[in-house]
Amino acid sequence: MKNTATDFDVLIVGAGISGIGMAAHMKTKTPDHSFAIVERRENLGGTWDLFRYPGIRSDSDMHTLGFDFEPWTHEKSIADAPAILEYLDRIVDERDIRKHIRFEQKVLAADWRESDARWHVTLETAEGERKHLTANWLYLGSGYYDYDEPYDPGFDFGEFEGQVIHPQFWPEDLDYAGKKVVVIGSGATAVTIVPSMAKKAAKVTMLQRTPTWMFSRPAKDGIANFLRKILPERLAYKITRWKNIKLQDIGFKRARTKPDKMGEALHKRIRKSMGADFDLADFTPPYNPWDQRLCLVPDDDLFDAMKSGNAEIVTGHIKAFEKGGVRLKDDTFIPADIVITATGLKLAVAGKIALSREGVPTDLAEHFYYKGCMFSNVPNLAVVFGYLNASWTLRADINSDYVCRVLTHMKATEADIAVPVLDENHELEEDDIFDFSSGYIQRSKHIMPKNAVSYPWRLNQEYIIDRKRMAEDPVDDGNLEFRRHGANAKDGFEQLEAAE
Ligand SMILES: Cc1cc2nc3c(=O)[nH]c(=O)nc-3n(C[C@H](O)[C@H](O)[C@H](O)COP(=O)(O)OP(=O)(O)OC[C@H]3O[C@@H](n4cnc5c(N)ncnc54)[C@H](O)[C@@H]3O)c2cc1C
Repeated sequence: MKNTATDFDVLIVGAGISGIGMAAHMKTKTPDHSFAIVERRENLGGTWDLFRYPGIRSDSDMHTLGFDFEPWTHEKSIADAPAILEYLDRIVDERDIRKHIRFEQKVLAADWRESDARWHVTLETAEGERKHLTANWLYLGSGYYDYDEPYDPGFDFGEFEGQVIHPQFWPEDLDYAGKKVVVIGSGATAVTIVPSMAKKAAKVTMLQRTPTWMFSRPAKDGIANFLRKILPERLAYKITRWKNIKLQDIGFKRARTKPDKMGEALHKRIRKSMGADFDLADFTPPYNPWDQRLCLVPDDDLFDAMKSGNAEIVTGHIKAFEKGGVRLKDDTFIPADIVITATGLKLAVAGKIALSREGVPTDLAEHFYYKGCMFSNVPNLAVVFGYLNASWTLRADINSDYVCRVLTHMKATEADIAVPVLDENHELEEDDIFDFSSGYIQRSKHIMPKNAVSYPWRLNQEYIIDRKRMAEDPVDDGNLEFRRHGANAKDGFEQLEAAE
């Protein structure tokens, strides 16, 4: 048996949506399990606190980006970061979660030791002090991108004399009133920044190499707000959430089966705002809708900014940065006082934690996903990697609920190890982890865990099916092996090694 108690039953890494969600699920579903959240930053909220660029907002509706257990009650369904942080803060306070959070503690390494069935975790404080603690489970709510460095496309800013800013590190005091701004990129971040900065800047140019499919919708959900007036808050939320899940699902499947029709519908919506003769070249990507995430334009804000003359989109390739702006390969010159490089994120796996088992490094890229939550032959470790074709929190909720079910089963059967066992001679057929063509995904495939064609060894992208499986399939499914470290610890790791 264990000689000393573990510090925590569960160590949650990250106080963003995923980490806070897991804590809230544990409070109600596994109240006898101890847990702590360790967070490298000084605030909670993760993404929603880190990014400070003008207009920062969700591009999913908050009825699905919100948790299943806490209604979203704001009037706007597309929310800005302060409203999302207020929602998370309320959850943390009402559920007494704050006392479990240890801020400014970065997890550097975690080593699994079978002999005492726990992760030995090394942390670093903001002052650079190293600390150690142990936990039976590690739950990674550490997000999916590098908090220290964004993606660097390798621009040479050469002669450029203005300011260069990446949206991940927005200067608090940036004064752009009356200035000429070039925003490089065409993803959700650029599409948010451009109309927002256009309110004060002299001119904002969105410079894109490739167009993106965009869709416009109101930031307020009329049905949701009507239901809230006539129904109890929780019921209204449940109905709106389900409506949006179904609509997302239908929209995604339609794009995959009838891409031309979907493209026409998206174009029709843009022409409705920009006029019947508007040239759609800058809104016509060389790929099908939903081959990459669609980009939301709430309340036509981007189109309105373009119509006002304060914003424009230019499609072209950069030749050089010159003293006063950007020169394109076709010799077009775009004057700029400020360049914003909205060129994307650098993906990171497992919060860049050096994972190991018995001191031997564990590279998750060599392991298969198990139920989009755990990894083949890695014990007591769960992770959240949200949906690409739906809101992140849908996955966070089902994974938290599932891990609570596993913890409950372990307690009932007195097991302290749960490991998805995959035989070394498996004949799993590998599948692309995402069939998305987005640059940030393509660039990072080599660091992502493996994905099989067949369930459960994959990160599936069908929420409605996943939800049912995660909530209803028995946790003891013949793949997830439960054991007690006292009984067979000695050969446990050897078994694992043999299985790989
Ligand atoms: C600008 C932007 C807009 C987005 N909009 C949407 C949207 O509308 N809809 C949607 O579904 N998704 C969206 N996403 C994806 C978004 O990241 C998720 O919705 C969600 O916020 C992720 O929550 P998370 O808690 O898993 O990760 P994060 O929000 O990234 O939080 C992770 C936390 O873990 C901490 N952490 C990381 N590593 C360590 C470590 N080693 N030790 C200690 N702490 C660590 C971080 O400091 C951070 O606080 C957006 C992403 C970005 C960047």
